[in-house]
Amino acid sequence: MPALLEVEGLTCGYGPVGVLKDVTLTVERGSIVAVLGANGAGKTTLLRTLSGLLRPTEGRVVFDGTDLRSVPVEQVVRRGLAHVPEGRGVVAELTVDENLRLGGLWRRDQADARKALTEVYELFEPLARRKRSVGHQLSGGERQMLALGRALVARPNLLLLDEPSLGLAPRVTAQIMALLAQLRERTGLTVLLVEQNVRSALSVADHGVVLSVGQVVMSAPAARLRDDDDLRHAYLGF
Ligand code: ATP
Repeated sequence: MPALLEVEGLTCGYGPVGVLKDVTLTVERGSIVAVLGANGAGKTTLLRTLSGLLRPTEGRVVFDGTDLRSVPVEQVVRRGLAHVPEGRGVVAELTVDENLRLGGLWRRDQADARKALTEVYELFEPLARRKRSVGHQLSGGERQMLALGRALVARPNLLLLDEPSLGLAPRVTAQIMALLAQLRERTGLTVLLVEQNVRSALSVADHGVVLSVGQVVMSAPAARLRDDDDLRHAYLGF
């Protein structure tokens, strides 16, 4: 079976400003791939391009066998690709329960959306305890769980996660990473994880891709990036 996501020669930017240059990467089904790199390396731009918010100037994105150039942006999520943006996009005025239901509103199979909602509450206990709290009453960790949970109600095949550790205490970050590992084990979810928190990301990832100034400068099994001192010094700076 082909990989779930194949990105080939992706070049993209904002108007005349080039950001990504010839990015090629593969995400196998059921794997967690971490995209690492400094501030401004192009990680967020990569996720925006994958989910169709930005159109590449060159190259292609093949998701589950379909070239996404032929798919309108609003159809991408229906095909099973969910994007949790940096900053999380939780609606602060709505309750936890309302936010989660938003994630399944558009689904044709409403019975399954309700089932997925129940599963999210089982998986994310803090959310179950705070069903009636509104978004702005939640802690950073709870908001991150909510954003993740909302994406999961759509039952994605591929989850694109932008900086889930941003602004979280190390203990909470560890909880989020453990949840990702658990989700992958239980449901076979595939994750493309963008992180500046390299250690956390490599603790759950199978594979790491390092971006620098819009280009892939290293792609290796996460264990190698974790354990090979020379590689780490050269590409990750610690
Ligand atoms: P960060 O972690 O800071 O978000 P990043 O690796 O995700 O970094 P991007 O946000 O993808 O990097 O930004 C890559 C480059 O594109 C940066 O030079 C940034 O200034 C530029 N850029 C980002 N968004 C826009 C935009 N909307 N218009 C023009 N340039 C942008």
